[in-house]
Amino acid sequence: MKGQKFLPYGIQDIDEEDINAVSHALNSDFLTTGPKVKKFEEHFSEFTNAKYTISCSNGTAALHLACLAIGLKEGDWVIVPSITFLATANAIRFCGAEVLFCDVDEKTGLMTPAALKKAISHAKKKNLVLKAVITVHLTGKPVNLRGLKMICDQHDLVLISDSCHALGGVYDRSPIGSCKYEGFNTFSFHPVKAITSGEGGAVTTNNEKHAEKMRIMRSHSMERADSDNNWWTYKMDSLGYNYRMSDIQCALGTSQLKKIDRFVTKKESLVELYNIKLKELTPVLTTPVFRDNELVDRVGWHLYSVLIDFNKLKITKESFIIKLMEKKIRTQVHYMPVHLQPYYKRRYGSVRLPGANSYAYKTLSLPLFTKMEVADLEYVVEQITNIIK
Ligand SMILES: *Cc1c(COP(=O)(O)O)cnc(C)c1O
Repeated sequence: MKGQKFLPYGIQDIDEEDINAVSHALNSDFLTTGPKVKKFEEHFSEFTNAKYTISCSNGTAALHLACLAIGLKEGDWVIVPSITFLATANAIRFCGAEVLFCDVDEKTGLMTPAALKKAISHAKKKNLVLKAVITVHLTGKPVNLRGLKMICDQHDLVLISDSCHALGGVYDRSPIGSCKYEGFNTFSFHPVKAITSGEGGAVTTNNEKHAEKMRIMRSHSMERADSDNNWWTYKMDSLGYNYRMSDIQCALGTSQLKKIDRFVTKKESLVELYNIKLKELTPVLTTPVFRDNELVDRVGWHLYSVLIDFNKLKITKESFIIKLMEKKIRTQVHYMPVHLQPYYKRRYGSVRLPGANSYAYKTLSLPLFTKMEVADLEYVVEQITNIIK
C-alpha cells in the first residue's frame, strides 16, 4: 500500500466467503423480509448475549427505533455526550424531543458519571422533563456503564448505549450489546464499522415489549392477521417507517459476524504496536487511554484516536492533516462537538462544555483497519514523527 494508495482511517474487509454469501442471497427467493434477516438477528443475539435483536436499515434508524420504543415525544429531554456522531442527537429530534448535551472527559472523550450528574442537576434546575441518556463507547472504549446506570436508576432514566463503535468489546464479562446495564444498544454496519453489511444497523434489548414495538415500527407499523382466512388483512395502530435491512445485507452481515473475533484481535495488535511506537512522542502526542474504568475487559477498537497538543507544536490541526494527506495518509476528526453545529446552536444557544471542546481540538484518528500491515503502520508513525520532531 505504501507510496501508492491512500491509507484510510478505516475501511471494510471483504473476502470471497462474504461475496459468496451475498451471491447466495441474490439467487434465493427472498431479497428482503426473508429467512436471512431472521438468521442474522439470531446470530447477532447469540454473539451479543442479548435476548432480542431488531435489524434495521442503518445505525441512525437503530437509534430512532430505540427512541420510539420508549415513546419519546415533544417536551421530553434526553442527555447525549457532545462528542459523538450527529445521528446520536438527531434521533432524539426525529421524535420531536430535545437534546441536552453533556460534557465528556477531556482525555477519553467519554461521558463520565460526574459529567452525567452535572447535566442532570442542570436539567433539574431548569425543570426539564428528562427521559433517557444515550451514551457512546467512543472509538470502542466502553464507558463506565455501571456508574452511569446507577445514576440513571436514581433519576428514573432509560440508559441507551450507542454502541456503533464498540461491537466485539467486553464489559463486566458481558459482550457489548448484551444490555446487562442498558435498556437498548444500537449498532451500525456501515463499511467503516467493526463489521459491515454495506448499510445496516441493529438494536438489541432484553425487553420483549420494546422488541416487539421496534419490530413492528421498522416495517410501517403494519400488523398482519395470521389466520389462514384473512391473511390479506392488516392493521396500522401507530405511525411506522420502512427501516428494514434486506436479506442481501443480512447475508453479508452474518458472514462478516463470523470474522469479528479475528477483526478485533487484529486491531488490538495494531493498537498495541501504535502505542509502543508513538510513545516517544509524548507529551506532544498522547496515545489513547485504554481503560476508563476497571470493568472494561476488552476494547473492540473502532478508531485509533490520539490527542495532539497543537498549541505546543505550533502547527494547526488543519496543516497537520494536510501534511499527512500529502503523504497519502488520510486522518479524520471524531468528532466536532455536536453542540457547536449550527442547527443545535440555533436551537439551544451557546452551551459551555470545556471537556468536549478540549478533546475535539486535540483528537485525530489515524489509520486503523484490519487489512493494515505493520509496514503501513510504521509508515504512518514515521510521517507523524517527521512532523512532530
Ligand atoms: C456510524 C454511527 C452512527 C450512525 O450509523 P449509520 O449506520 O451511518 O446510520 C451513529 N452513531 C455513531 C457513534 C456512529 O459511529
